[in-house]
Amino acid sequence: MAATFRTVSVHNKLPRASARLDTPVERICCRRFITTRAGLQKVAYVLRPLQDDSCFFCREKLRNAGVVDHFIPWSRYPRDTALNFVLAHSVCNGDKRDLLAGQSHLERWLERNERQGAEVGEALSEVGFLMEPAVTTMIARWAYNQTIASEGHFWVGYKNTEKASADILRAFS
Ligand SMILES: [Zn+2]
Repeated sequence: MAATFRTVSVHNKLPRASARLDTPVERICCRRFITTRAGLQKVAYVLRPLQDDSCFFCREKLRNAGVVDHFIPWSRYPRDTALNFVLAHSVCNGDKRDLLAGQSHLERWLERNERQGAEVGEALSEVGFLMEPAVTTMIARWAYNQTIASEGHFWVGYKNTEKASADILRAFS
């Protein structure tokens, strides 16, 4: 059974007070459990073979574990669109938290959406997720611009961040 669903069952034992929902992992797990658990299951089912059962971020094998991550963090864009989902280790997802991912991740995500977006969007539209590729990319560009303007940091990898630089915006061109 995927870690995603173990995570859901663990969180389900906790009080659902909003104060507990302080990480992206918990937010998506709990919210999905309450709304459409089948939807989260479907996201993992669709993404796992497309990612070759590997973590989107560190590229190591998931070995049938993994959690669904919002590439643009939920705190920046509180809406589930099909192309914003990636599958990742819970450790990678938890370390990334509310940060935007760095350049190599952004390039890989944009390329994934270009190459496999139609397939992902079609599969996930069956369980009610919107595709909206143009809007998703526009929101991403906005979020990266915001982080650069506020002199924030991008998440590069586990315990590794870098100061946000406008160079990353070239990925959108
Ligand atoms: Zn990973």
